[in-house]
Amino acid sequence: MPTVALAGNPNCGKTSLFNGLTGARHHVGNWPGVTVEKRSGMVEVDGVSVEIVDLPGTYSLSAQSEDERIASSFLSQPGVDVIVNVLDASNLERNLYLTTQLLELRKPMVFALNMMDDAVRQGLEVDMEALSRLLGGRVVATVGNRKEGLDDLKAAILQAAQNSDPARDPTQGSPRVAYGDDIEGEVRKLAEEVRRDEKLTEHLSGRWWALRLLEGARDAVEQAEASHAGKAIRQQVEASRAFLEGHLGDDCPTLLAERRYGFARGLVAEVATRRNAKAERDLTDRLDSVLTNRVLGIPIFLVIMVAVYTLTFVIGKYPQDAIGAGMGWLHDTAAAHLPPGELTSLFVDGVIPGVGSVVVFLPSIMILMGCVSFLEDTGYMARAAFIMDRLMHLMGLHGKSFIPLVMGMGCNTPAIQATRTIEAKSDRFITILVAPFVSCSARLPVYILLAGAFFKPFQGALAVVAMHVLGFVVAIAAGKFLRVSFFRGENTPFVMELPPYRLPVLRTTALHMWEKGSVFLRKAGTVIFAGATLVWFLSNYPGLADRALTAERQTQKEAIQAQKLPEAEEKEKLDDLDFAYRGRIMNSSLAARFGKVLQPVFRPFLDPDRRRPEAWKDGVALTAGFVAKEIVVGTMAVVHQAKAEAPEGAETTPLQQSLRENSGMTPLTALAFMVFTLIYTPCLGTVGMILKETRSWAWTGFSVGYGIGLGWTLAWLTVVAGRALGFA
Ligand code: GDP
Ligand code: MG
Repeated sequence: MPTVALAGNPNCGKTSLFNGLTGARHHVGNWPGVTVEKRSGMVEVDGVSVEIVDLPGTYSLSAQSEDERIASSFLSQPGVDVIVNVLDASNLERNLYLTTQLLELRKPMVFALNMMDDAVRQGLEVDMEALSRLLGGRVVATVGNRKEGLDDLKAAILQAAQNSDPARDPTQGSPRVAYGDDIEGEVRKLAEEVRRDEKLTEHLSGRWWALRLLEGARDAVEQAEASHAGKAIRQQVEASRAFLEGHLGDDCPTLLAERRYGFARGLVAEVATRRNAKAERDLTDRLDSVLTNRVLGIPIFLVIMVAVYTLTFVIGKYPQDAIGAGMGWLHDTAAAHLPPGELTSLFVDGVIPGVGSVVVFLPSIMILMGCVSFLEDTGYMARAAFIMDRLMHLMGLHGKSFIPLVMGMGCNTPAIQATRTIEAKSDRFITILVAPFVSCSARLPVYILLAGAFFKPFQGALAVVAMHVLGFVVAIAAGKFLRVSFFRGENTPFVMELPPYRLPVLRTTALHMWEKGSVFLRKAGTVIFAGATLVWFLSNYPGLADRALTAERQTQKEAIQAQKLPEAEEKEKLDDLDFAYRGRIMNSSLAARFGKVLQPVFRPFLDPDRRRPEAWKDGVALTAGFVAKEIVVGTMAVVHQAKAEAPEGAETTPLQQSLRENSGMTPLTALAFMVFTLIYTPCLGTVGMILKETRSWAWTGFSVGYGIGLGWTLAWLTVVAGRALGFA
């Protein structure tokens, strides 16, 4: 089965084409750095299965950052049969730079001229025939986000794959950049040295190696130096570089780059004509003069963020209430019809409230993710990074670090992976260590739950926004701290690229929401379900298995029933009885023992007056949240034993009701709880990703430890400051 790799610059539409070809639904966004790992999928063309691999974008094959190295090392593997070079037609010249290097791999190639809609709107005309002839491969016009041109692309891929007979060189006669006599002479000498080690030239030509080595591509240099001809090769590289610099007056990477740009410019001049290039650019320029304005930029960003979170909080409430009512009905029906016993208790007191209290937040999370995806697709998020760039510089980071932070608003795990685009190791580590402070969508339920229980609607929305702002502020401040302590030195210069604004395809936004929603539901059915079961067990045993207690409960129940009270009155008494016994069981449970051991740790911010016997429950919920932050709410529902039904006409859910009436929590301690949830340890999935990306147990441990310390301190300060301001 042939393997086909999609290669191209960042943000040229590779992932859109990949999704279109394979039916996958990977993340697309109108900014560079969205894809940071390779992913593969299958497509069937005329009965032939083809494997398609989507790669991170890269401007050149000699690049240094982790994601770009993933792309370049994959492309030079023998297993790649066809390269589909995706080109942004509205930016052809710049995109062709990479093409010049890809051509040097001398593999069968297909060229997807993507963003054709933009190019046409800008008045660009491309002579496809001529381009195809000059590049030595089929050129197909595509519009990735609308799935146009995919059939032609598939046919071209199949044709290229079938012609990739290893016995003959399919790209014979295909163009190559002419570097001039001096350079070509040195390339030949160097290629000669490389050929001494047959392993090197088994799949890649001597010329390819020579060019990479002169350019100083890190992977190539490392591999060549490790070979048995390494010493001779290094000497020749040094000699050639010295010769060329002496003769041509510039260093080798610059010389090669100049020739390549020349080639790209010439090619564009040959095949493309442009009429009225201005209109499109004008709109982008006009929008940018406002949105990236030095003065207005940050206020506008804040207003947009406030709008997004207010929308999540206010609109999300309606479907949330509806799902909540459904869960209440399920609970009551189950309680009324299942025979009393331990299994019923598991359902009624554990699984239904635990999972149900989390699932009600599904709509809010989907709304948030829809908004973020929409903003990403328009290109606004790239502007947000650009605006923040200046602020980030003050703090020793740059805009490139802001991209992972923004991605973290969905989930911190991919955000940490997204730091692969950052070249300097110190910059990258700082970003990894601060990324978990950005509030992810899993923390949203905690804020909505507590803000809804303890604040008026408008204050509540404000508290939710404040948590997100605080997350960014802490991330940036922690970045500064790490820069001056562990990771001294300058950050590398970086220019944020500003792609043109685009109108998002609503289908993509909807798909994205759906995708996030289903991930969340899957989590509810697995991790949160397991968490709720475990917490139910820990908070009901040994009491629930105590026969004497069960018998006592039964006797009292029968006593009430014997009174023959009116139905409503009897039900109320029975409910009260039930509630009292559940409380007794809980207070002597394993969870209570554990929670009470931890209680002193949390006391300064959860129970500053020592007036909350129930405060240990919050500690249990926060501990459970280490596994996944969604579990915090699920655990609260189980340990705070919400009565199933909210009183008639109440504005709040049963859990919120129970928190307000029975838990002893105040608005101030609720706020401290939110702050702690925001800052303390990353969830297990994120910790795993930190370990994977830093390959360091020490830094992973540090990340958990300083998160907890910082979270504790800030939650405590919240209480101290709140009391100084006169709040109870
Ligand atoms: P990648 O970084 O190369 O993987 O690019 P993506 O697939 O993530 O796409 C980048 C942005 O361009 C997204 O906002 C896409 O919706 C958009 N896009 C992709 N292909 C086209 C196209 O042909 N025309 C237009 N106008 N936009 C496109
Ligand atoms: Mg991509």
